[in-house]
Amino acid sequence: MTRTVYVNGEYLPETEAKVSIFDRGFLFADAVYEVTSVLDGKLIDFEGHAVRLERSLNELDMQSACTKEELLGIHRKLVELNEIEEGLVYLQVSRGSDGDRDFVFPSEDTKPTLVLFTQNKPGLANSPAAQKGAKVISIDDIRWGRRDIKTVQLLYPSMGKMMAKAAGADDAWLVEDGYVTEGTSNNAYYVKDGKIITRPLSNDILHGITRKAVLRLAEEAQMTIEERLFTIDEAKEADEAFTTSASAFVMPVVEIDGAQLGDGTPGPIAKRLREIYLEEARAKAI
Ligand code: PMP
Repeated sequence: MTRTVYVNGEYLPETEAKVSIFDRGFLFADAVYEVTSVLDGKLIDFEGHAVRLERSLNELDMQSACTKEELLGIHRKLVELNEIEEGLVYLQVSRGSDGDRDFVFPSEDTKPTLVLFTQNKPGLANSPAAQKGAKVISIDDIRWGRRDIKTVQLLYPSMGKMMAKAAGADDAWLVEDGYVTEGTSNNAYYVKDGKIITRPLSNDILHGITRKAVLRLAEEAQMTIEERLFTIDEAKEADEAFTTSASAFVMPVVEIDGAQLGDGTPGPIAKRLREIYLEEARAKAI
């Protein structure tokens, strides 16, 4: 089946979808994005992603491409047209193209470019990777200072995944001034003596939609949460660890820089949080 994608008001076969070579997303990474999961053919936490998108756009003085209701309609139509039961919807808004290359932002007359496409991922919820747990390495965090804005500047996170792969690991955690910021594409946590430790929100990390839901669920389940800075050495001594993201939910971490956590299998708190997160996400999906 040829994938149908959305570009600026049109639903097209992916082979016919086009964006200008002068698009600022392409030339300057002047674009923001969101990834929303689909389970049982329904969208997980659409509202959270729509609100964060609006915030990213505002922070960059970028125009909204359409209303939240229109966005929901486009998401739903793409899920339906591409028959997605489990998978992802990727959305990107760029500052558009004014037909040339200029560092200066174009005038308000230049319309943003809005692109959405689906990725079919059967088995997303029952992932073998989550049953095994992830091995992570630590690398320097050399990204820019506004990681709270979800821009498409993903070259360094992409390089981080390659460094992890070269080291025989699955992902990388980023370290700045001695403290873990987050994973290449997820928020990072460790558990010690029943306490969940994670970095507090600031401009240093993305304000994860999954992070918010998981911390609320952990609190409701009477788990103890400590939002504070932590080092890789602390995390290596943990009983267990995990990451959260919209595309991998709660992912147990079983090894950090070669140090095995616990017995080297996913820990009980990560497993429990994954279970209750998926249960609620499915129940509230739209
Ligand atoms: N941090 C970074 C750097 C990310 O790229 C992501 C995934 N987009 C996250 C955290 C997790 O955010 P969310 O739960 O909203 O997917």
